[in-house]
Amino acid sequence: MNASCSFCGNKNIRNVKVQYIYRHDGQLLIVNGVPCEQCEYCGEQYFKAEVLKKIESDFNQVYTHRKKADREIRVPVEQYA
Ligand SMILES: [Zn+2]
Repeated sequence: MNASCSFCGNKNIRNVKVQYIYRHDGQLLIVNGVPCEQCEYCGEQYFKAEVLKKIESDFNQVYTHRKKADREIRVPVEQYA
């Protein structure tokens, strides 16, 4: 997709699968095994538009209860003090 990293200009981009955390209105969806292209130098990640659309669609389906997530985790939240 990218001939070189638009962040640092490095040309070594590899295909990897990563964990993507989608955030919207304070709600989260964690998706594992998401394909992306990652810069080997700075670690910048590039996702295809259709991949992000699919995650957004899954997020909406999970939060409107049209789809059940594979599993759910409890996430502690605290204020830095
Ligand atoms: Zn880079």
